[in-house]
Order: sequence, then C-alpha cells, then structure tokens
Amino acid sequence: MSTEPRPHPSNTHWQEGWHPHATRTPSPNFGPRPQGIAIDLAVVHSISLPPGQYGGNDIQRLFTNTLDWDAHPYFDLIRGAEVSAHFVVRRDGQLLQFVSVLDRAWHAGRSHWQGRDNCNDFSVGIELEGLEHTPFEVPQYETLARLLRDLAEAWPIAQTVGHEHIAPGRKQDPGKAFDWPLLASLTGWPAKRFPHSALLDSSS
Ligand SMILES: [Zn+2]
Repeated sequence: MSTEPRPHPSNTHWQEGWHPHATRTPSPNFGPRPQGIAIDLAVVHSISLPPGQYGGNDIQRLFTNTLDWDAHPYFDLIRGAEVSAHFVVRRDGQLLQFVSVLDRAWHAGRSHWQGRDNCNDFSVGIELEGLEHTPFEVPQYETLARLLRDLAEAWPIAQTVGHEHIAPGRKQDPGKAFDWPLLASLTGWPAKRFPHSALLDSSS
C-alpha cells in the first residue's frame, strides 16, 4: 500500500473539497479552476445583507441567486450579481460552505497578488458576516482559524490576506477593525503568512 495514515489526529476528512462540519448551501456560481493550479491563498472578506444587519438568510440567498432584489433598497445596487464565496462564517461562528474548494468561487473580482492576477483562480474565499471597519466576534476568529488550519492540511495555503489587499483602492473588506494579530495567534502561524502591513498597523 502506498497510502499511510497521516499521524495528525485532527485530520479533516474533506469530501471532494467540502468541509465535513460546514453546513452545505451549494451555490451555482462557480467554475473550474485552471488545470494544475496550486490553491495557495486564502482571502478574507466581510459581508452582511442588508449591510450592518446580522442573522438573516440574505447572504445565502445572494450566493444561491435567490435574493429578492426588491426587498431592500441596497439590494437594488447589487441587482443581478452572480457571486459566491467558498465559505461564510456567521456572527456566532457557524460555518457555511457554498462552493467546493476544488472549484473556483466568484469572490475576489479584479484582483492581484504578488505578481498574479485573477486571485479567484488560486484562492479560497471566506466571508465573515460583518461590516468592514467594524469589529468581528471572537467565535468568528476561532472558526476562521480552525478552517484555515483544516485547509492547510489539504492544500498548500501559504498566505491569508484580506480582499482589501488584493484589490487595493477598490475593496476595503474586512477593514481596519479586523484583528490580524488575533487570527495569527489562533492559527499558530508565523506573521509572514499574513499581510505584513496589517500586522504592523494593528500593533502600532
Ligand atoms: Zn470582499
């Protein structure tokens, strides 16, 4: 036998790119990744619908193309959007999954990171329920950190950054209130795996 069990006891049994403990809400908004590409970047976003209102189901509706665009004035501004993320972390830390990590979700848009464009090709998109520049909940960091570690068991996730870092000037999420040092601490990963500027800003 060429396969031998990996020794780590907390091995996550990913199922075709689906996390075993996430609530599955499959989105039709995805496509194939470029063949042979390494999934080596995690992108943190924030979203709430309507903005600043938590606990409803409108994020799920947006990502499954079932949002009632007439239900709120804000929705008219994003009418017809076909978007998705691989994961959403609710305010209480609940983990939802919309797209298999093996597939390409539509979260980053026009983006660029360290010499490469189209970050959707090689990244995992994780939305935290929240509002940019507004604090997130500790259970969200705990779920996010666990998810990142689970992802890194299966894919070569080298860095975790914010949408603001791969689309500067165009996007601001998750924003100034996101606690990068806390996330780094909870993952146990070194600072080089997170945006350098964010760690500097937060500690000054
Ligand atoms: Zn974003």
